[in-house]
Order: sequence, then structure tokens, then C-alpha cells
Amino acid sequence: MAASLPSSSLSPSDVLDFDFSRGIIRSKSGMRFFLNSSEAWIIMKEKMFESFSSGAASILFGIGSFYGEKAVEAAKNTNTDVANPVLVIRAAKKFGLQSGWGNITPRFERDELIVMVTDCCFCHNMKKRDEAVCYEFSGIISGALGKIMLALPPSNSPSKSSTISVKERKCKVLGDSVCEFSSVLPRMLVNEMRFNA
Ligand SMILES: [Zn+2]
Repeated sequence: MAASLPSSSLSPSDVLDFDFSRGIIRSKSGMRFFLNSSEAWIIMKEKMFESFSSGAASILFGIGSFYGEKAVEAAKNTNTDVANPVLVIRAAKKFGLQSGWGNITPRFERDELIVMVTDCCFCHNMKKRDEAVCYEFSGIISGALGKIMLALPPSNSPSKSSTISVKERKCKVLGDSVCEFSSVLPRMLVNEMRFNA
């Protein structure tokens, strides 16, 4: 499923508002941002792995999940039909490119969502490891899918409250050229998605 690329002629001020007198950066949807280097994030992440071992994965997943939920809320605020995967894919790609997270290319294979990320910022220049480490991205995908499910009728279905599992099956720290995530979508989500853009 193809997603059109946003214009490469965008400048930062088309995406963010900078108030240098107050030290405040906001997105056009009003979310506050701050600039940080990928290197600083990676150092923090490596410290988390050292201190919390496998607990770090769950913290990073939680951070990502929050971001994923917020991204879907922001998409809804710009009147994106979040039940339409074509529009969600387009919005996700644009968000990734404009946020410096890398080039996100999602696709559907039967009931599975596959998300490939080229130049992922969450494992940038990280040392080789024997497990994938981009738990933030897994969380982002899971949080976004959960929020999309809540937007679909019937909203009171108890099955919607469970966390959607996402597996990172390729990662640059494993020696792969890209990071890639897969999630088997719940049947109701697949049934209720509208694939006609
Ligand atoms: Zn990765």
C-alpha cells in the first residue's frame, strides 16, 4: 500500500513554532517540544538497560505508547479519519519524517501490520546487541493502534482494553539494515478498517 511522501521543501517553521524569547517550541497542534540529540537519548537508554535490565524495555515501551496515543489524537484533531489505514499510514510517514524519527513505511499483509523504519533514531549508532532495542517504536505502534481501536464502534467492547502486542523482528543493533516491527491485528480492527482512501 503506497503512501505519498510529504513535500521535501518544508522548513522547520512550517511544522513548529519557535518562541526563542520564552524557550518554548510547539507543534502546530499545540504540543510542546524540546530538542535533544539522538546521542543523548541513546546514552540515557543504555544507562536504563544497565540499571533496570529487562525493566528498561517496559519503561521505553510505555513512553512510546503514550506518544503513539498522542499522535493519533493529533491526527484526529486535524480531521484525519483514523479508521482509514491509508490516511493513517500517510500521517505516520509524515510525522516520522518531520519529527526526525526516520522514514516509516507501514504495510499490511493479511491481518498483520508490518512497519519498516529506515534511519531509526532510537538505535542510532548504538552498539551491537543480541536483542532488538527499539521498544519506544514498538510502544508507539501499540499505543496508536489501541487508540484507533477505541475510535471504532462499538466503543464499549471489553476486548479493546488489552494492549496490542508488537514485535520488533529486525533492528540495526542486530546487524539488520532497517528496524522492522510486526503486529497481528485483532480481527475486529481489520474488519472495521476502511481501506478505500
Ligand atoms: Zn531498532
